[in-house]
Amino acid sequence: MLRTKSPRLGAPLLRAALGFGRRAGVRAASGGRGHAWLRPAGQDTGVQVYNSLTGRKEPLVVERAGTASWYSCGPTVYDHAHLGHACSYVRFDIIRRILTRVFGCNIVMVMGITDVDDKIIQRAREMDLPPVSLARHYEEEFKQDMAALKVLPPTVYLRVTENIPQIISFIEGIIARGHAYSTAKGNVYFDLKSRGDKYGKLVSVAPGPVGEPAGDSDKRHASDFALWKAAKPEEIFWASPWGHGRPGWHIECSAMASMVFGGQLDIHSGGIDLAFPHHENEIAQCEAFHQCRQWGNYFLHSGHLHVKGKEKMSKSLKNYVAIKDFLRTFSPDVFRLFCTRSSYRSAIDYSDNAMLHAQHLLLGLHSFLGDARAYMKGQLACSPVQEDQLWEGLSSTKGAVWAALADDFDTPRAVDAILGLVHLGNGQLRAAQDPGGPRSPAVFGAIVSYIEQFFGTIGISLANQQCVSEDGSAATLHSVVEELVRFRQSVRQFALTAPEAPREARQQQLLERRPLLEACDALRQDLAAHGINIKTAGSQSNPASHVFSHMTHLEDAEAG
Ligand SMILES: [Zn+2]
Repeated sequence: MLRTKSPRLGAPLLRAALGFGRRAGVRAASGGRGHAWLRPAGQDTGVQVYNSLTGRKEPLVVERAGTASWYSCGPTVYDHAHLGHACSYVRFDIIRRILTRVFGCNIVMVMGITDVDDKIIQRAREMDLPPVSLARHYEEEFKQDMAALKVLPPTVYLRVTENIPQIISFIEGIIARGHAYSTAKGNVYFDLKSRGDKYGKLVSVAPGPVGEPAGDSDKRHASDFALWKAAKPEEIFWASPWGHGRPGWHIECSAMASMVFGGQLDIHSGGIDLAFPHHENEIAQCEAFHQCRQWGNYFLHSGHLHVKGKEKMSKSLKNYVAIKDFLRTFSPDVFRLFCTRSSYRSAIDYSDNAMLHAQHLLLGLHSFLGDARAYMKGQLACSPVQEDQLWEGLSSTKGAVWAALADDFDTPRAVDAILGLVHLGNGQLRAAQDPGGPRSPAVFGAIVSYIEQFFGTIGISLANQQCVSEDGSAATLHSVVEELVRFRQSVRQFALTAPEAPREARQQQLLERRPLLEACDALRQDLAAHGINIKTAGSQSNPASHVFSHMTHLEDAEAG
């Protein structure tokens, strides 16, 4: 079974992620230490969203009617992405799709790609590659992984290395407003003391601008953080008013988000580990630069993917599963369904069992939809159904799903409501020995259509003859797969056809053709790994997400 650690983690999880114990002081009812959260003026989307800035659910109000500005921290591209990353991006992809398709809010999403930093430089050195080449390689891999997981790309990706002049002028702006200082060594630091009690909006206990800096540090205070880092020998660098160097990590996001959205941002998202210090510092930088009281209105944080109950899946702990490896065994729809079974804020346990459970659930959905379609076509004979009950069930499910999604994107509750409807429908689709009496295909059509639409909304394809990708190549791919399946069928049929000959000769011939059959089996298994299911006679189900019904016909014809 799939376990979530706690349905309402929010602030406690945030504190745990930051390594704090139980909360010592209680934060103001709304907002951090210095300032209360300001409810934005604009259009209420109708959604209540858990805002890390207040530690509770707030109505999601966007500045411009029907449009939300959203900045998402992207990957640091120095290695393969793993399922922990996948979990965060898939969860936010689901939220983005819900906001767009259920609540009619057009999302403008900007994602920053960190393509220069210490880890990239170190890895590139180890591999004897230019840092930019290494970064491009893993950036491309990240994009392919996201496409394979059906995560919609952001409206734009912005790379740090392509926006250095903008980042430099952003830093100059912060210095000019008295919130940062440059040093003789060519570093620039944010002056935390200048921020007063406004630092610590995301956490109630944030380090103050205290402490002596370490021995060779040129900071004024230990907790001041770097906006610009002077280049070390033989390190990639850019020219700046402070000498050769490169941007610090936090400033990139502030500068790139501001480049597109200016001094106001509706939504900012990232994994819970980014809340502090990364997002806290982004807030400090932006509010200092824009001279505003509140730059980002809503901070959304996703919970970690855990392994074996307590460890966060991460590269440093070497307990991760690469996305590519995962997708060799399970389909992206299985992973997505797994992600919907817990709140996006919860820590979630990864295990093969949890994936098998999600796979089983997906098969159950496919199976119900298959039966319901067969019933509609008159191919499944049933006793008369209680039609009123089904219409009623459909209507109440729609209401329950909408309410769940409007309540901080409560996908577990929404999927439960759908499963309830499936249960109701399955209960009515009882095969009868002696069918007769009235039939109710329309209500099953309405249920099928609604369930397909719901899962389509969150990016899971249940519709008939849906294809692997959603882009324009889907139709082509579909045809190619169809040709492939037809070819396999011919080969298999040839291998199985027993010639008119004496028994021994026949057996010899079948023996010779056996490699053909084995190759056909291997192809079927290989395609299953890509989520393409070829049913053979006698097999009722197959763990695949995309059932090509016409393939079933091909194989059935062969069997018959
Ligand atoms: Zn960021």
